[in-house]
Formats: sequence, C-alpha cells, structure tokens
Amino acid sequence: MNSILQKSQTNRLPLLAIVGRPNVGKSTLFNRLIGSRRAIVGDEPGITRDRLYGETAWQGRRVRIVDTGGIIPDEKDFIPSEIFRQARLALEEAAAIVMVVDVRTELAAPDMELARLLRRLGKPLFLAVNKVDSPKLEAEAENFRTLGIENLFPISAEHGTGTAELLEAGAIQLQRLLSKRPR
Ligand code: GDP
Ligand code: MG
Repeated sequence: MNSILQKSQTNRLPLLAIVGRPNVGKSTLFNRLIGSRRAIVGDEPGITRDRLYGETAWQGRRVRIVDTGGIIPDEKDFIPSEIFRQARLALEEAAAIVMVVDVRTELAAPDMELARLLRRLGKPLFLAVNKVDSPKLEAEAENFRTLGIENLFPISAEHGTGTAELLEAGAIQLQRLLSKRPR
C-alpha cells in the first residue's frame, strides 16, 4: 500500500478525544489505550505541549485517539472554556469523547461547566473516573454522576483496570455511528 493511501485511510478512522482538567491522568490513559509511551506523563502541569495522536484497535477495528492535554501552555489554571477552546479542533473531529476526572478531587463548578460544554456537542460522551486504584474507591466514583454523563467508567489508567471496558464501550458506539454513515 502506498503511503498516501495509507495516510488517507488513517485520517478516515474514527477519532476518540480525551479531555479533562490538568493532572487527572489523560496522558496516562492515552498511553494505556494505545499501548505505548507516546504521550508524556508527569506531575508537572503542562508538560505535554502538543496534541498527540495514537492508534489502537478493538476487535480488529482501528480507532484513532487524541490526547488533548498539553494544548494549553500553562495548565495550572483550570478554565473550562479555555480547555474547550484549545481542544476545539480535536473535539470537532472527534466521533466520541472521553472526559476524565480524578476520583480523589472534589467536584467543582469548572468540572460541571466542562461537562456541560462537552454534552452540548451532542456526541457520544464517556466519563472516565480515574485513579480508582482500589475497589474501595469504586463507590466514590458514583459521586461523579452529578456531571450528568450517563456512561460512567471507574478506571485506573495506571493499573489498567476498567480501561478495556471503557475502550469497548467507546468502540461499540463508534461502530454504531459508522454503520449508519453513508459510504
Ligand atoms: P494529565 O495532565 O491529565 O495528562 O495527567 P497525567 O497522565 O500526566 O497524570 C498526572 C499524574 O497522575 C501522574 O503523576 C500520573 O502518574 C498520575 N496518575 C495517572 N493515572 C493514575 C491512576 O490511575 N492512579 C494514580 N494513583 N495515579 C495516576
Ligand atoms: Mg497530559
């Protein structure tokens, strides 16, 4: 296959966008899903500078994934409209979106605002409640229902628990969309 054809086919793959406030584990999840170390993970906010694209497969169907973190130069401030604005291109292109939150943080107004902005896009939306490193924290993940995102998945991006279920749910949604899309 020539590379131009390959590229155009790659660009036609459905895109899953990962969004959320700084340090919730977006890049860790991205790396977990694509199975390599392409996104930079760190304790320093704003450590990833570029939008990062990767690819994974679910039951033989290829899916593109974008880690939107790091588009924002200084991620210290959590300003939903800013996250939204800077991730806009990725969100526009996305077939489905995963919002990531950290189970150990209190839900605050900006989280509600970001969820609201994302819901308004009308695309399949998943909530990954990350850092659920022990079963004990699973009950706490339920607190995040108030964000109004029905598809909630407690996960630990670091340990890899729950991420297969998340990817599977995302892939099923994408599959559904694709089968409806005219050729
Ligand atoms: P991002 O800013 O949203 O991309 O977050 P990162 O992926 O860079 O992760 C921020 C910090 O959270 C890093 O120190 C990660 O090691 C840590 N982290 C990510 N996922 C988990 C997890 O499932 N459990 C725990 N305990 N820490 C995690
Ligand atoms: Mg990151």
